[in-house]
Amino acid sequence: MRPERTKASAMTVFDSNAYDGHEAVIFHADPAFGLEAIVAIHSSVLGPAFGGLRMRAYASDTDALEDALRLSKGMTYKAAMADLPFGGGKAVIIGDPRIRKTEALLRTMGRFIESLNGRYHTADDMGTTVADMDVLRMETRFAHGFADASGKPPPATAFGVFAGIRAAVAQRLGRDDLDGLGVAIQGLGNVGARLARYLAEAGARLQVADIERARVERARDEFGARAVAPERIHAAAVDIFAPCAAGAIINDRTVGEIRASIVAGAANNQLDRPCHGAALKEKGIPYAPDYVINAGGLIDVACEGPDYDPARMLERVARIYDTASEVFERARIEDAPTDLVADRMVRARLRSQAQSMIAA
Ligand code: NAD
Repeated sequence: MRPERTKASAMTVFDSNAYDGHEAVIFHADPAFGLEAIVAIHSSVLGPAFGGLRMRAYASDTDALEDALRLSKGMTYKAAMADLPFGGGKAVIIGDPRIRKTEALLRTMGRFIESLNGRYHTADDMGTTVADMDVLRMETRFAHGFADASGKPPPATAFGVFAGIRAAVAQRLGRDDLDGLGVAIQGLGNVGARLARYLAEAGARLQVADIERARVERARDEFGARAVAPERIHAAAVDIFAPCAAGAIINDRTVGEIRASIVAGAANNQLDRPCHGAALKEKGIPYAPDYVINAGGLIDVACEGPDYDPARMLERVARIYDTASEVFERARIEDAPTDLVADRMVRARLRSQAQSMIAA
């Protein structure tokens, strides 16, 4: 039975605020298995669309559509900036994963993804796991993320964020090391806790916040981190603020309170609105655009397969240092916010690839 949620009176893709020239949006339902899903393909200019499968109890169909549109665009930008041969896509299943996620439902989703014949490749995301990808793979060749040696994005993501932080420090503080620098980490989950280790090993002094007390205590015991209240961590008097929890942490309320000299973390969509990127620039705070420095996990998944070599993968992730440095340098020369500069770099790359495809 269809669960209760708001049914949009006139949901159209093209009118959506999140629509940005997406190539395809495909709706799929299979009432027999309770499946209602959307696959959004933002761009396949650089390769087949890639992006995780999110399962969530959306309040409305419109919310689900907007999530798929917004996240698939983000994947295009992340893959393009990391120089990966992928486009951007995202799939959402509408429904509470704790109640409605069954093997039958996942296999039905797998058949739907298979029917797209490689136009869209999936992986785990919020509400799905690598174990779910094993189930999907019973039906499709296009599900990534393995529970074995390869395909474990968070460590690679943390390593990439660490590289991005070092690039920001070199640019803003003119130093190659982090010894003695203060870093405030918001969120000590899969990525944040690993980032904390890299930073502590590099000699940084940590201030940390998490809504899960045990995670804060672990960081305190392992790294001598100082605990800060979650609602005040953005305002810590440190050199670097590293958001590694939810999005939109740089917003009207917080932006004026940030005391760090650099904002660089793993969280997706850190800027609530583009004006907050401009506000950070006005304050002289370089912001490492999220998709530039949190692409390590995607790079890891791109490397997976029989020839997976962790050292080679990490070498690739380490190049995030150069990419982030280029963004900072262009932003300095153009006197523009880093997020706008990064977006422009991606759009130029997409345009040039599209033109060469037309010419060929
Ligand atoms: P996670 O769920 O493992 O960790 C998030 C942590 O943040 C949890 O410990 C949670 O308790 C904490 N948290 C939630 N709200 C908080 C708040 N208000 N204040 C302080 N702590 C809070 O997630 P993750 O995989 O570590 O990802 C962290 C962020 O990085 C997310 O925004 C995610 O989208 C982004 N990201 C992750 C990856 C990856 O490889 N996992 C890749 C790219 C981007």
